Amino acid sequence: MYLQHSKGGLTKDSLELLAAGRGVADKLKHELTGVLIGSGLASLAENAVEHGADRVLVVDSPALETYFNLAYADAIYSLVRERSPYVFLFTANEVGKDIAARVAYRIPTGLATDNVQLAIEDYTNPALGQFKDLLIQVRPDFGTRLARIYTPRHRPQMATVRPGNFTPLPADPKRKGVVENVKFDLPAYPAKVTAVVELPPPVPDLAGADVVISLGLGILKDGRGNPKDPREAYKYAEKLKQAVETRYHLRAEIGASRALVYAEVKELEGLIGKANQVGQTGTTVKPKVYFAIGISGAVQHRVGMQNSSKIVAINLDPQAPIFKVAHYPIVGDLYEELPRLVEAIGGGGLAR
Ligand code: FAD
Repeated sequence: MYLQHSKGGLTKDSLELLAAGRGVADKLKHELTGVLIGSGLASLAENAVEHGADRVLVVDSPALETYFNLAYADAIYSLVRERSPYVFLFTANEVGKDIAARVAYRIPTGLATDNVQLAIEDYTNPALGQFKDLLIQVRPDFGTRLARIYTPRHRPQMATVRPGNFTPLPADPKRKGVVENVKFDLPAYPAKVTAVVELPPPVPDLAGADVVISLGLGILKDGRGNPKDPREAYKYAEKLKQAVETRYHLRAEIGASRALVYAEVKELEGLIGKANQVGQTGTTVKPKVYFAIGISGAVQHRVGMQNSSKIVAINLDPQAPIFKVAHYPIVGDLYEELPRLVEAIGGGGLAR
């Protein structure tokens, strides 16, 4: 697996990837190897071992200090060629997808992106034959289901894993692993990195929030089906955010389903936009508490929030799929239940 790092530490996404890889390696009884690329990486390699790696291949050079996709992809490609791994994993973020696609194309092998689960199973296909211990790559399809993707005939089985779906293993300073420094002769490239500009944190910062309060299309109508001004629900969501922040000192943000974002409701202009979207094509969140308000819970929404520690859902429909993952199901009209929730959490006053 390719391990990313930032500001002198492994990224949270990479710690999650180590947990995902550890599960796969244990089932296969294979070694779990991480690849680190950059400059001055010795302590990071030890850290990767503490979090689950058996071996870390370190490509360390001052020339590789800054991320440069052509060079990083070349380094990984040559390692894959040399070591012939059975499975190779990346994080499904901009960098992981950038490199994974380049390496998979060159090998060539398949690449299943955005996986939310990984499993090892035998696979039989009448046309292709029987395969033992294949990596099953599970990701949302383009409709409403989860797809299970196999790579029976090409190696490595290559996949990207969506952040937020695996829990990092606790650091174990007693874990032993092998750290190997690998030589990589940097070719001359027709392009070079001249500047790196860090973007400001996203607003709202859904992935970093302790509590996410998400609104769905249900806010457009009340329990009797009469149209409502959605700003009323938004106002209650803001009050809930304020109540949570004041009473529990947790950082809360307002999220939304894709259907609500795409509806481009005039009244919510400037309040709800693409940055608020939770789900497969939005942000994956894993807060302490997730509120799903007037959200049906389609699979593309659930994969972006189902690992939240506690899920509170308000929905009129007792059969709504969101109730499959909710710890606190509230069946009812959000325009009645949301003010009650604000009253209960805010200790009065805030609901008015
Ligand atoms: P609906 O499905 O319309 O649900 C509204 C819910 O509100 C219903 O369950 C209804 O019972 C309830 N309701 C209505 N009135 C009230 C009331 N007064 N009180 C209480 N409850 C009420 N979706 C995402 O969210 N995120 C994604 O990233 C995403 N990516 C996608 C990617 C692809 C490729 C595809 C095909 C789809 C994607 N979707 C995504 C869309 C997803 O399939 C659903 O269409 C969407 O999540 C539905 O949004 P919703 O729950 O707000 O709306």
